[in-house]
Amino acid sequence: MAQRRAMAKAITLLESTRADHRALGDELLTALLPHTGQSFRLGISGVPGVGKSTFIESLGLYLIGLGHRVAVLTIDPSSTVSGGSILGDKTRMEHLSVHERAYIRPSPSSGTLGGVAEKTREAMLVCEAAGYDVVIVETVGVGQSETAVANMTDMFVLLQLPNAGDDLQAIKKGVMELADLVVINKADLDPDAATRARAQITSSLRLLGLHGHPEHAHHDESIWHPQVIQISALHKQGVDHFWDAVTQFRGLQTANGHLAARRQGQARAWMWERIEAGLKQRFRDHPAVRAQLDAVTQAVLAGTLPASTAARQLLELFD
Ligand code: GDP
Repeated sequence: MAQRRAMAKAITLLESTRADHRALGDELLTALLPHTGQSFRLGISGVPGVGKSTFIESLGLYLIGLGHRVAVLTIDPSSTVSGGSILGDKTRMEHLSVHERAYIRPSPSSGTLGGVAEKTREAMLVCEAAGYDVVIVETVGVGQSETAVANMTDMFVLLQLPNAGDDLQAIKKGVMELADLVVINKADLDPDAATRARAQITSSLRLLGLHGHPEHAHHDESIWHPQVIQISALHKQGVDHFWDAVTQFRGLQTANGHLAARRQGQARAWMWERIEAGLKQRFRDHPAVRAQLDAVTQAVLAGTLPASTAARQLLELFD
């Protein structure tokens, strides 16, 4: 219990926007860093109602049964837009949330998606330092949050429903390309549909593997072809099969060095993402820029100043 309180305090400190808190938070993170990185980071996404919380509850309890300690973090993109929440309203993961070997932390409730992702990434490090060896980062299947989660985890899993058309949406949004594994949930409702969906998604993934953008894939297609697995989260069927596939993926990725390379790439990209966000904020806050920004924007809108010239002028003020 004392440890949970310490974790909650640490994460709250890291979520704070106060400058003095931020300085303390940075010190804390730097101290924790040598104790991080030992866990497996699993990203899970899917549309509302696909069964994410049911699945994470089943999976989490299964993993605890195997001796793991499980942390679940959430990125709720709706909170960044409306302050409301798609994921947080109901009681989720009823048994897992009270288990002493599990730690569940809801999404930071405000900020930009980049900011929320930053807090979640930092909370993940706190969980790792506290000895949680499986960290699940969950998000709902809307907008950019899936990319954010894929970019902070070792493996990205997409949950799908067994009806056709669902996978087309994922392909259109480019989410299918991010997936290292696709799980068809609720296979109990219509086993035939689930089998058809599995065949369809498998061939879609194969096409994406052949014709997709290799730079989007987080795995090496010559070594790992994303698998498609059917489960019933509600009836706890297929969870062991799912974890076998995860273990296999992890083993391959570790042996061939991709896991370490993926983490390095993520850390570098993350640093630049945060630099860009920070620079933009400083630019907007800069007194000379603030004094001119409205007038210059109006001139661009009125068509009297080329947008690129406007940008150069403002950037010079910032210099
Ligand atoms: P989330 O919004 O993705 O977190 O979805 P939930 O986990 O809240 O599940 C939405 C609904 O689907 C709930 O009523 C669950 O009981 C139900 N559900 C989840 N998994 C299964 C499953 O494998 N089979 C069936 N029949 N229902 C499921």
